[in-house]
Amino acid sequence: AMDVCAIGELLVEVMRPSPNVPLYQTGTFTGPYPSGAPAIFIDALARLGVATGMIGCVGNDDFGKCVLTRLVEDGVDVHQVATLQDKTTAVAFVTYFSAGARQFLFHVADAAAGCIQVDQLDELVLAQTRVLHLNGSTLSINETTRLACYEAARMVKQNGGIVTFDPNIRPELCEAGEMEQLYTPLLNMCDYVLPSDGEAELLTGQAQREDAVRALLELGAKAVICKHGAAGCTLYHGAGQVQVPAFHVDVVDPTGAGDCFSAGFVYGLLKEWDWEPILTFANAMGALATRKQGPMEGIGHLADVKAFIQQNVRQFG
Ligand code: ATP
Repeated sequence: AMDVCAIGELLVEVMRPSPNVPLYQTGTFTGPYPSGAPAIFIDALARLGVATGMIGCVGNDDFGKCVLTRLVEDGVDVHQVATLQDKTTAVAFVTYFSAGARQFLFHVADAAAGCIQVDQLDELVLAQTRVLHLNGSTLSINETTRLACYEAARMVKQNGGIVTFDPNIRPELCEAGEMEQLYTPLLNMCDYVLPSDGEAELLTGQAQREDAVRALLELGAKAVICKHGAAGCTLYHGAGQVQVPAFHVDVVDPTGAGDCFSAGFVYGLLKEWDWEPILTFANAMGALATRKQGPMEGIGHLADVKAFIQQNVRQFG
C-alpha cells in the first residue's frame, strides 16, 4: 500500500542561469531539471523514505525520461504515470529578477501533462492511500485533468484518507475569476490547505488573511498552513494558531520551496507529531530546497534534514 500519492503535472524546467534576463531576450538557459509542483512534492517524500506514488502523464521523449528517471531512482511508484505516444512532455521556462519576482512560460496544457484522466487512476491503490496531495496548478490545466483530481480525492477519502492541497496559484495558468469555480469542489474535500502569502485571499475572494483562513476552515479544512517564505509559516486551526520562524539560508533558487515544505508537513502528519515539530520540519524542507539550482536538487535524505535542523535549532528529536 502507498502512504502518499500525488497527482498532476510532470515537467522539465529550463531556467536562466543568471537573473534579470527576460524570456523574450536571446540568451542562455540551463537544464532541463525534473520539475512540476506535484512531482517535486512526491520526490521529496520518497527521499525521506515514505512509500509514494505519482499520477500523471509524460511524452515518449527525453524530457519525460528526465523526470521519470528521477522519480524512479528515488523510489516513487510510477505505475499510474502514462507515457503518451502522441504528446510531448510539458516544459516550463523560468527567469528570476533581483527584486524577487520570477516569470514562467509554460508549455503544459497542450502537452502530455494536459492529458491526465480518470481512466488512469488505480482505485485499489487510492482507496488504501493515507494522504493524497493536489495542486491548484493542476486544477487549472483543463477539465479532464480537473475531474481526475476530484475523482482521485473522492477515492482517497472513501476510506478515511487525508487530502492536502497547495493552491500553487500561477497567474500564467489560471485567471482569478475562474478560480473559485474550479477550486471549490476540491476545497470541500480538503483536510489541509497550504497557501503561500496572498493565496488564501485569492482563493476565497477575501481581503484579509484571517477572513480567508476562516472561510477555508468553514469549508472543512482541519487546518490552514500559511507559508511566508523567509518569514516561516503559521498554522491556523479552529482553536488558534501556531507560528514557526524560518531557518536562515542563502537562497540560490526558490522554486520548489513550497512543494518541499508541503512534503515536510505531510511527513510530520504521518508521524503524528505535534504542530510545532511538524512546522519546524516543514520549514527545514523548504529552506533546504532553496539552496541549489533546480527544484528537486536541494533535498537530501531524512538524515540530512535532521542534521540541518540539529545544526540550526537545539531541541529537535
Ligand atoms: P514555490 O511556489 O516557489 O514552491 P511558495 O511560494 O509556495 O514556493 P514560500 O512561502 O516561498 O512558498 O516557501 C515555502 C517555505 O519554504 C517557507 O514557508 C519557508 O519555510 C521555506 N522558505 C522559502 N523561502 C525561504 C527563505 N528565503 N529562507 C528560509 N526559508 C525559506
